[in-house]
Amino acid sequence: MNFVTRFAPSPTGPLHLGHAFSALLAHDTARAVGGQFLLRIDDLDQTRARSTWEDLIYEDLEWLGIRWHGPVRKQSNHFEDYQDAINNLANKGLIYPCRCKRRDIEVALDAPQEGVPRFGPDGLIYPGTCRNRSMQDRQSGDALRLDLSKATLVEPLAFTETGQAHLGTHHVTIDHLQTHVGDPVIARSGMAASYHLAVVIDDAASGITHAIRGEDLFDASYIQRFLQAQLNLPPIEYHHHPLVRDDNGKRLAKRDDARAISNYRADGATPDYIRKMVGL
Ligand code: GLU
Repeated sequence: MNFVTRFAPSPTGPLHLGHAFSALLAHDTARAVGGQFLLRIDDLDQTRARSTWEDLIYEDLEWLGIRWHGPVRKQSNHFEDYQDAINNLANKGLIYPCRCKRRDIEVALDAPQEGVPRFGPDGLIYPGTCRNRSMQDRQSGDALRLDLSKATLVEPLAFTETGQAHLGTHHVTIDHLQTHVGDPVIARSGMAASYHLAVVIDDAASGITHAIRGEDLFDASYIQRFLQAQLNLPPIEYHHHPLVRDDNGKRLAKRDDARAISNYRADGATPDYIRKMVGL
């Protein structure tokens, strides 16, 4: 079986136990099936990415006994690829500039309707306020969004999930995206691309067949599968694993430095101890 997976941390803080779990799970799974494990540095957000955090990622992973195949891919080396994809979508007339701030979206959404979700994986569900703006009107500070009302899907679209919580096949339709996401952001102000656009391009360029990542990204898979189809990129399989939580049941975040791998290392913990702590 062709199995290529990856761990794709953002170098914006120290890796914590949640990252260790994700990286070890992807690494061990690739090894168990004779596949490949790759490392990618998701440094799309250049205002927050730091080379010191990137160096610490390499150190932590090596200490954990994780070895990756081939060179590390860094998003910051591929901004042109993202721009090509944006141009491709723009040439198809699918994207428009958007200058709505959170407050504008809240006002546009006005009275919440019962049974209709207000929030999706990217926050408030965008009601399409700027849809009538053209790319020629783009001003600095504008984001770019994909107009779902203009998008077409030529075939039934789906993705396969192997994680327990959402095990099975999930269908992606424009209707579902309209109700649960709103027009997806393709590029943010001051950034080369949105996270979703970059990830599908990176995964395809690296020949990724399986994404193993935290449960918090499950809903994002609908957007990513949709973007793959719009850009003629191959589908991949997903495995979303439960998040590592602190003693109060709260999910760990980058700012939980107490759970940073580097702190455990400094305290003399062993990689086996970390494996036990995350339940591996
Ligand atoms: N860079 C993303 C993160 O740190 C992960 C991307 C992905 O796994 O698709 O959350």
